[in-house]
Amino acid sequence: MLQVVRSIALFYNNLPRLHKFTFGALLFLTWSMLVWQAAVYKPITESESPLPLPTTTATNSSVSTNTDADDAEPMDQPTPDDEIPKDELDETTGDASTPNEYVVSNGDTLGSILTQFGMDASDIYLLANKNSALTNLKIGQQLNWVLDDEGTLQSLTWVVSRRETRVYERAENGFKETINTLKGEWKNAVVTGKMDGSFLVSARAAGLTNSEIRAVTKALQWQLDFRKLRNGDRFSILFSREVLDGKNEQSQLIGVRMQSSGKDYYAIRSGDGKFYDREGSGLAKGFLRYPTPKQYKVTSSFNPRRLHPITGRVAPHKGVDFSIPIGSPVLAVGDGEVVVAKFSGAAGNYVAIRHGRQYSTRYMHLNKILVKPGQKVKRGDRIALSGNTGRSTGPHLHYELWVNELAVNPLTATLPRSDSLIGQDRAEYLAQVKEVVPQLHL
Ligand SMILES: [Zn+2]
Repeated sequence: MLQVVRSIALFYNNLPRLHKFTFGALLFLTWSMLVWQAAVYKPITESESPLPLPTTTATNSSVSTNTDADDAEPMDQPTPDDEIPKDELDETTGDASTPNEYVVSNGDTLGSILTQFGMDASDIYLLANKNSALTNLKIGQQLNWVLDDEGTLQSLTWVVSRRETRVYERAENGFKETINTLKGEWKNAVVTGKMDGSFLVSARAAGLTNSEIRAVTKALQWQLDFRKLRNGDRFSILFSREVLDGKNEQSQLIGVRMQSSGKDYYAIRSGDGKFYDREGSGLAKGFLRYPTPKQYKVTSSFNPRRLHPITGRVAPHKGVDFSIPIGSPVLAVGDGEVVVAKFSGAAGNYVAIRHGRQYSTRYMHLNKILVKPGQKVKRGDRIALSGNTGRSTGPHLHYELWVNELAVNPLTATLPRSDSLIGQDRAEYLAQVKEVVPQLHL
């Protein structure tokens, strides 16, 4: 090494002045790149969010500096040691092999749907450009997809109708389309059961599959806390099941009735693929777009596929950063239950709220927490005062929105809405209710 330095020095001294400058600058640049890279290198598993990943070792957390941005903006790097607590029912959804799913609603396009889940624009372009049918999504249709560990799309399934499913799998130059036509027969089946132990256990005992259990908990998520059901509570569920060669191939939930402590809860599917109560009122509670009483400047946007400028590795930013003065109120964006409220390392003072079964929101770097774990909150409730705690280089709020175990862009995601059916849609729905409800006997 000394020999190398000596030869460089010798060489340097023999250079003309301009060359000296260039060479020196080059040397400095090379040196600083080496040092900088070593200082900022972060393994991919140390991504910022409380993903249910194996936890990383503590040694990694000592080497972080924020690098990829404007020094003027506050930055953060929360670490994944803040998993939100899970219950038994999550096991039917939390499984990595379970694809993400989305029901097409009014105004959606393939691009708008996949973009809010952070998918790469070039993949969306490849899909839409080579398969023009995909630009014709209809309300109520379902999309499922599978991502790899880096959030890259591997396959997309489009349930066109009960009979037709199209699958797009990543191939060499884009995506390969396979059209599956199902030949089974659809039959309605009513399944009844009684709570004996947890809902998961009771529903399995009644003969429901995991995906059917998931459909039921999703349909009733805004009305019921499944963990509060008691032994002796009863349920009746109408499925349309496809039978092929005597075997159940797939099923669609048509309606569910849950009787708990003498009270009946209903959710019936409408033509738009969503569930409403018996009057056609929406069951979802609306969400606020912003977790603050007023809008603040976004200093770092959502980007699950963000590449680290030096290492070239994926270093996701799973939320949005708002530049916001210390002590400003932070609001719950929807009704829910506080599941985390504590100081937590890089996240600083950290609050997580669970909304229904599918949604959760996370708020980090807070100055003061105003809620406790287990506390029920309403949309718009003050949950904290913003701050600059944890791994953060300036006052800001890091806010995340998760849907079905996946972080989505809080600024563009389709939020649950409390829409009700009107006009012709409502008339058709009420006719459907008249047919379905009498079948949901206990
Ligand atoms: Zn952030």
